[in-house]
Amino acid sequence: MVRAERVHKSFGPVRVLRGIDLEVRAGEVFCLVGPSGSGKSTFLRCINHLEKIDAGRLYVDGRLVGYRQRGDTLYEMREREVAEQRRDIGMVFQRFNLFPHMTAAENVMEAPVQVKGVRRAQARERAEALLARVGLADRMDNYPAQLSGGQQQRVAIARALAMDPKLMLFDEPTSALDPELVGEVLDVMRGLAEDGMTMIVVTHEMGFAREVGDSLVFMDDGAVVESGHPREVLNDPKHPRTRAFLSKVL
Ligand code: ADP
Ligand code: MG
Repeated sequence: MVRAERVHKSFGPVRVLRGIDLEVRAGEVFCLVGPSGSGKSTFLRCINHLEKIDAGRLYVDGRLVGYRQRGDTLYEMREREVAEQRRDIGMVFQRFNLFPHMTAAENVMEAPVQVKGVRRAQARERAEALLARVGLADRMDNYPAQLSGGQQQRVAIARALAMDPKLMLFDEPTSALDPELVGEVLDVMRGLAEDGMTMIVVTHEMGFAREVGDSLVFMDDGAVVESGHPREVLNDPKHPRTRAFLSKVL
């Protein structure tokens, strides 16, 4: 579903991604862990067209991200094609980023109505189903300010699912939550995983990675340091930097 080949990204002189190679298979829960500043968010943002890579190749579902290739030459995609690619990818951020002036249901309906031209009545029905799926059937008409952080994050997940993404990106989805609200969000993510969604999850929740993850990559300083099955990497980290990091978060 995702393949990165020697992906590089710099901001000015700062080399943030230094040749990332990795592969995410369809249906897999792929956990990306590493210290703050190691480039995890930047990598997710490159997948979702929020940043452009400087070198290497990045593919989603077999297609180059943001470029078309003819022979050996790459051409930048037109805006419409970029929009099409982005539609297939759902993203959930640390901060919930809901539209504050819209109810939970309206937040979930917004993209299908505005981007896909779905009729409001139909979008509302779908929003009801999605909000029920994340355990918020009774919160449809609440505004974000009336919801807890955990509830807001679940609305954000429902909103991403409303576009029927092939791939879901989670960037520390529970890091901004009070500890007692983390579980309800992880439970929703676990349900998505059981339904076969392909997910890349940046997280410090090693319990989740161990129980739900299919692969885990440890990143440091813009590079993949170690990867494998989550239990393997977490129980028996090979690299000193992985060990040092895990000793702090476990
Ligand atoms: P992580 O998510 O692993 O904490 P990030 O991808 O957010 O790491 O950031 C990696 C590095 O890139 C950091 O040093 C950060 O300051 C830098 N960085 C991220 N985005 C930008 C930007 N838009 N402009 C300049 N530097 C950036
Ligand atoms: Mg980050």
